[in-house]
Amino acid sequence: MTTAQPLDVQPTPLALLLLGREADPRSERGVECPGDLPAPSDPDLVERARAAKAKLGDKVFVLGHHYQRDEVIEFADVTGDSFKLARDAAARPDAEYIVFCGVHFMAESADILTGDDQQVVLPDLAAGCSMADMATAEQVAECWDVLTEAGIAEQVVPVSYMNSSADIKAFTGEHGGTICTSSNAERALDWAFAQGDPATSKVLFLPDQHLGRNTAVRDMGMSLEDCVVYNPHKPNGGLTTEQLQNARMILWRGHCSVHGRFSLESVEDVRARIPGVNVLVHPECKHEVVEAADYVGSTEYIIKALEAAPAGSKWAIGTELNLVRRLANRFADQDKEIVFLDKTVCFCSTMNRIDLPHLVWTLESLAAGKTVNRIEVDPGTAAFAKLALERMLALP
Ligand code: SF4
Repeated sequence: MTTAQPLDVQPTPLALLLLGREADPRSERGVECPGDLPAPSDPDLVERARAAKAKLGDKVFVLGHHYQRDEVIEFADVTGDSFKLARDAAARPDAEYIVFCGVHFMAESADILTGDDQQVVLPDLAAGCSMADMATAEQVAECWDVLTEAGIAEQVVPVSYMNSSADIKAFTGEHGGTICTSSNAERALDWAFAQGDPATSKVLFLPDQHLGRNTAVRDMGMSLEDCVVYNPHKPNGGLTTEQLQNARMILWRGHCSVHGRFSLESVEDVRARIPGVNVLVHPECKHEVVEAADYVGSTEYIIKALEAAPAGSKWAIGTELNLVRRLANRFADQDKEIVFLDKTVCFCSTMNRIDLPHLVWTLESLAAGKTVNRIEVDPGTAAFAKLALERMLALP
């Protein structure tokens, strides 16, 4: 019998960073959240949000990402995915304030695409994106040095997912690349490979390895061997020069912490539980999940597929839970059975940080003439990021 050793309870030398209380300059989240938030238990929150929004009138335009809570979506003037919302914001040059109920990188894109006289506001600065945080400007600059050392940088075109910080978008624009969304990733990759000699050109895909791999292999007929994963935490990205030279797709080692949770077992389990179920997943899911699914597509694709689904059909959806629940409720009276693909609850925790108290605080502050939580991208970064976004808008 062994004797249990006493636990080492030395205090950690690292200060804990509380979300919403401290600044983290290395994160895409600015994280300070000033001001006195109303209590979540305040019974007048809905009335207060209505009153502040009415007082602001056309001066405010509220955008709600599909993954937001119902209590927030209720006050959105438009809903959509990150790209649609950025375009919607750009189409409202008369709105003085754009309140972006989403995450930090989305508010940055809205700031880049809207006029200098418009102010973009994120109700909670702690609403970041763990995927966007997985590629920092320093790491990507270091990666480019590795590609230069390997003698391939001139053959490489960066393609960055919309879910990236303004710094990464700017890097992409400056190095001749484009932004993509989950709806146009294939067109973006086609464009990128056509920028050089198709026989030798390569793509550095940032920051979501799964969207890059799924698009290259599933939609464009490449093999898994054409793809390598660059790990920013390892010397040389964890790759040999030969591996880099032989690759067509250099995938950044990033992923979505929500979509990354779905597994092959989730798919097998739901098929066993619900005979005849259609499995529909987002392309941010792992490759084996996408391969096992019946349908794959962006958030907008998922919504359209369910709108068009016949009565009596059954669906298991692999995307964020707030959206899946809303869709299940929306189609409940049309005899469409819609369930969440995984058995465990899986919200995007940072999207969920925007709640009604934060929205009320934001709207009331704006109505009182005080701008809070403004998101501003510096002009140098914004210029290159806009170049990359405009290349996307010009994709055939
Ligand atoms: S769902 Fe994933 S990609 Fe989207 S904001 Fe949340 S962590 Fe980021």
